[in-house]
Amino acid sequence: MGPPGAGKGTQAKAVAEHFGVPAISTGDIFRANVNGGTPLGVEAKRYMDAGEYVPDEVTNNMVRSRIAEPDAGNGFLLDGYPRTLAQVTELDAMVEATGHQLDAVLVLTVDQDAVVGRLLKRAEIEGRADDTEDVIRRRLEVYAEETEPLIEVYAARGLVVSVDGLGEIDEVQKRIFGALDSVPQS
Ligand code: AMP
Repeated sequence: MGPPGAGKGTQAKAVAEHFGVPAISTGDIFRANVNGGTPLGVEAKRYMDAGEYVPDEVTNNMVRSRIAEPDAGNGFLLDGYPRTLAQVTELDAMVEATGHQLDAVLVLTVDQDAVVGRLLKRAEIEGRADDTEDVIRRRLEVYAEETEPLIEVYAARGLVVSVDGLGEIDEVQKRIFGALDSVPQS
C-alpha cells in the first residue's frame, strides 16, 4: 500500500520475483483491458481517467478470478488492492476460501510533494491519461479518504510493515527485503 506515485508497481514486481509468486496489479489489469478495448476496460476507463476508484464489485470480481488462476496457487502479491474497506472484507473471504492467509501488508511511505513530482515525471515518460495534475490531485484525495484508513485496519491485525519509499529504487528495495525478512511466511 501507499499513495499513487509511492513506487508500488516497481517494488511489487521485485518482491514478487523474490518470493516466486505473481505480482497482481489491479491497475495493470485495468490498463490492459482499457488497451484491449474489452467491456471491463470501457467501464474502468471512465473512473480511471477521472482519478476515481472503479466500483468495488467490478474490482473484487476481477481479483477473485485472477487469484483463482494456477500461478497464484502458492501465493501472490497484490499491488493496488485492496483500496476500500469493502475490498478488505472481500479479500478476507477470498483468502479464506483459497486456504491462504495474509502474511504482510507492506506500506510504502512518501511525502505528498515528492509524490506529485514523481507522478508528473511519469506522465512525461509513460503518457498515462490519469497522470495530469488535476487527476493526480484527485487520486491523492481519494487515496487519503478511502485507502489510508485501511492501514489502521491491518495494523490492528499486526500485519503492517512500513518502509520509507523515498530514495533510489535499489535502496528502497533493500529496505523492503530487510523489513520482510522478519515476517514469517505461511
Ligand atoms: P494504479 O495503477 O494502481 O494507480 O491504478 C490506476 C487506477 O486504476 C486507479 O486510479 C483506479 O481508477 C483503478 N484501480 C486500481 N486498483 C483499484 C482498486 N483496488 N479499486 C478501485 N479502483 C482501482
